[in-house]
Amino acid sequence: MRTVLVTGGAGFIGSHFVEQLLRAGDIGAVTVLDALTYAGDTNNLAGVRHDARFTFVEGNILDAPLVDSLVAGHDEVVHFAAESHVDRSFSQVAEFLSTNVAGTNTLLDAAQRHGVSKFVHVSTDEVYGPIRTGVATEKWPLRPTVPYAASKAASDLIALSYYQTFGLPVCVTRSSNNYGPRQFPEKLIPAFVTKLLQGELVPLHGDGGHVRNWLHVEDNCAGVDLVLRQGVPGEIYNIGGGTDLSTRELTGLLLEALGAGWESVRNVPDRRSNDIRYAIDWTKMADELGYQPRRQLADGLSETVAWYTDHWVGGSRQRQSASPSGAR
Ligand code: NAD
Repeated sequence: MRTVLVTGGAGFIGSHFVEQLLRAGDIGAVTVLDALTYAGDTNNLAGVRHDARFTFVEGNILDAPLVDSLVAGHDEVVHFAAESHVDRSFSQVAEFLSTNVAGTNTLLDAAQRHGVSKFVHVSTDEVYGPIRTGVATEKWPLRPTVPYAASKAASDLIALSYYQTFGLPVCVTRSSNNYGPRQFPEKLIPAFVTKLLQGELVPLHGDGGHVRNWLHVEDNCAGVDLVLRQGVPGEIYNIGGGTDLSTRELTGLLLEALGAGWESVRNVPDRRSNDIRYAIDWTKMADELGYQPRRQLADGLSETVAWYTDHWVGGSRQRQSASPSGAR
C-alpha cells in the first residue's frame, strides 16, 4: 500500500486531491502538511477527517526537521503548498520566494535524502508568460512576468535539477486556471460569486480582454494523480482542456448564474501586470497518460455557485466543525 505526503492539502486544490487520492484502493496512508495560512482551512478536509488512513499535520514546509521526519515516513510526495495569489505577490515578493522556492527546496532535499519513489511538483501555466497566439507545449520557454509566476518557474527549475543532479524521480505539472468549490475568495470566480451574493459590485480589470483556460479542479487533480502514478521522472506535463474565456466573457456567465446584470460591474484600472492570454497544449498528458478532462464549464460553474451560496454568508465562510483527526 502506498503512503503519500501532500503539502498544502488544506488549500483549494490540495484538499480536492486528498479526497480523490483516498478514494483509490491502493492507498495505505495520506498525510497533509499545511501551515494553515489565510488560504488554508481544515474545513476543506472535513470529508476525509474520519478516514483512518488520513493524518493532518499543521506545519511549515520551511521547517526542515519537521519536513525531514515526515518525508522519511512516506513513499511519495505531492507538493501543492505555495503562496498562490498574483495580486499578493506584487507586495510580498520575499514571502513568495521564501515559500515557493526555498520551501520547495526543503522538500526536495528531504525527498532526495530519503529516496522517495515519486515527487510531483505542482505548478502553473503562468510560468510560460503571455501567449499571444498558439499554445505552449512543455518545451516552451519560461517567460514569467509577475513575481508569483517567477517564483513558480524558479521552483520548477530547482525541482527538475534534483532529477538531473541526484536522480530524484521528480515530475512537474503545469495546469491552467482551476475553479470549483472551496477556493479562497480572492481569486476571480469565488471573489465575484461571493460579492454578487452579497449584492456588491464586482471589479472588472481593464477591458476584461485577458484570456484564461478555466479547468475544473477535479480534472486537474485527476491529471496530477495520473502523473503521480505514471509520469516519467524528469518530465513536465501541461494539464489543460478547460474552457478558454476572456474575463469579460466569464463575468457575463457569473452575472447570469447569479441573476445579476452588468450594472453590478465596476470597471477598474488593469492590474499592474496582467498577461493578455495563457494557452497550453496538453497533448502529452492525453497521449502518454490517457488524461481527458471530464467536467463541463456550465455544470462546474453551477456547482461552484451553489457551494458558495451554501457556505459563505455575509462575506465569511460558515465554520462547520473542529479540526480534522490527528491535527496538531
Ligand atoms: P491555495 O492558496 O488555495 O492553497 C495553498 C495551501 O498551501 C494553503 O492551504 C496554505 O495554508 C498552504 N501553505 C502556504 N504556505 C505554506 C507553507 N510555507 N508551508 C505549508 N503550507 C503552506 O492554493 P491552490 O489554488 O490550491 O494552489 C495549489 C498549488 O497549485 C499551488 O502550488 C499553485 O501554484 C498551483 N496552481 C494553482 C492554480 C489555481 O488556479 N489555483 C493553477 C495552477 C497551479
